[in-house]
Amino acid sequence: MNEERLNNYENCIRLFERAASRLGLDEEMRLLLKTPFREIRVRVPVRMDDGSTRIFVGYRVQHNGARGPLKGGIRYHPDVDPDEVRALAMLMTWKTALVDIPFGGAKGGIACDPLTMSRGELERLTRKFTSRIDIVLGINRDIPAPDVNTNAQIMAWIMDEYSSRHGYTPGIVTGKPVDLGGSLGREEATGRGVSIVTRLACREFGLDLARATVAIQGFGNVGSYAARFLHQAGARVVAVGDLRGGVYDSRGLDIDRLLVYARQQGSVAGFPGARAISNPEIFRLPCDILIPAALGGVLTKANAGEVEAKMLVEAANAPTSSIGDAIFQDRGVVVVPDILANAGGVTVSYFEWSQNIQQYRWEEARVNEELERILTRAYESVSTLAKEERASLRDAAYMLAVQKVVEAERLRGS
Ligand code: NAD
Repeated sequence: MNEERLNNYENCIRLFERAASRLGLDEEMRLLLKTPFREIRVRVPVRMDDGSTRIFVGYRVQHNGARGPLKGGIRYHPDVDPDEVRALAMLMTWKTALVDIPFGGAKGGIACDPLTMSRGELERLTRKFTSRIDIVLGINRDIPAPDVNTNAQIMAWIMDEYSSRHGYTPGIVTGKPVDLGGSLGREEATGRGVSIVTRLACREFGLDLARATVAIQGFGNVGSYAARFLHQAGARVVAVGDLRGGVYDSRGLDIDRLLVYARQQGSVAGFPGARAISNPEIFRLPCDILIPAALGGVLTKANAGEVEAKMLVEAANAPTSSIGDAIFQDRGVVVVPDILANAGGVTVSYFEWSQNIQQYRWEEARVNEELERILTRAYESVSTLAKEERASLRDAAYMLAVQKVVEAERLRGS
């Protein structure tokens, strides 16, 4: 098992324990909150295009449902393993509590390399996985969503497979195509949320967003929309990187052209007129705001000291190790934590689920206004507590989130 991934889980536990100590939680409550409610591991046989059958392994971890149905994305990636999924499920519990939407936390994943699989293979994989975890899903039990390498099409297959057993159930999954009951604004929501909290953090910490320079690792759903919205807000996005490489232009990249280029080429690498940069280089570039928006565990003891940015906005889940975090704190780098920075996605997933239950569609303007209101409220409560407690934004966010889950557990009689 990959050390870095294992550390992601240990990091999440460490962050939780720090909040638990500040909140004075006893051992019993700590154990209750740390232990996932349910974990399942399934064998997923898939007929490949060449006629062979491959066995994949999939997971669904339901961390805590005290505050409502379990909610969290499904990831397709070769590094998916039980600890990684456990860590991500726990983060979802804190995230939904922090933005105060009535969900618990879960996560799922399949260890596979979707970039090497055909559309037909991905569809069969998704349908088989859905049938295997069907037993723990439900509109009031557990509602999946997209994550790394999964998208609206994959959500549509999940919805269709589930509906074939239970009757038409659009609310079983969020992040669906709009034509199948997806919410307007959901695809953009995580990136939009990243730009909203970045703007709020800039205002609080005296950075002028309209003059700021930004570097973004990851140009998928989250990174590309974050780039677009920050660019629209006037920020200069000077560097972007993805799995195949990165590009840098100190004058600011032409984001509209880059979005078209990346869609056509499948990567930002080779974007004309910009300097090519390597993947690790993106973290060392001169810029004001650094936004990891790819995988976890990328900012560690090894590179946190080299980061030149004044602010780190964690669009990815768990991008910073606990030692990396301590280095940022020592160096005065403002860290906007993942459970706040990327909560826009699950917030609009909540709107989507509500719309599905009511069979009613919201206008996009309403989605965006409510998203802004919820994230602003969450940001302000984190910032206020951080000042009162002389804590980092991360510790304050964890304290608020953990306390909400504790209250729900106590009220329900745990
Ligand atoms: P995605 O699959 O759409 O995009 C991932 C991007 O990261 C791609 O550009 C890919 O090339 C890049 N990438 C992958 N491995 C890389 C590497 N080793 N080095 C550099 N770049 C690499 O995924 P996404 O949905 O945008 O998710 C990105 C992050 O945001 C993840 O950590 C995810 O958990 C988190 N997140 C996503 C959502 C959501 O709504 N999709 C919500 C909250 C948090």
